[in-house]
Amino acid sequence: MITGNCLCRGIQYEYDGVINELAICHCNQCKRAQGTAFAINAPIDARLFKIITGEHLLKMYYSSPKKHRVFCSRCGSPIYSAHTDKPAIIRLRSGTITSEFRHPPDYQQYCESKSDWLEIKLDIPAFARARE
Ligand SMILES: [Zn+2]
Ligand SMILES: [Zn+2]
Repeated sequence: MITGNCLCRGIQYEYDGVINELAICHCNQCKRAQGTAFAINAPIDARLFKIITGEHLLKMYYSSPKKHRVFCSRCGSPIYSAHTDKPAIIRLRSGTITSEFRHPPDYQQYCESKSDWLEIKLDIPAFARARE
């Protein structure tokens, strides 16, 4: 069981599944949404993800017509993003995970918008846009 929470701990979640994919995302939306140079997100099975407390604190922002980003309205922590055309998968923000978790990032994506000042040396695949 993977557990996590937002910064203020008002939102707590459980994921009763396994995380087997972790993506470093350099897209401009993730950079703004996270307030840092990149995000590390895990595509997970939406049916196995459950908000335990703080449902009322969740707010969402549509960063694209079909993609929304869900965050804590009290502390601002990004929790996950979801796409209306792909409801089975949500993309969990890995920094909110609090349980033991060992899975190195699998690939980098949207490298075409990577921050110029950032140099990451990782021996993993890197894609200019979304992973094909
Ligand atoms: Zn919070
Ligand atoms: Zn992104």
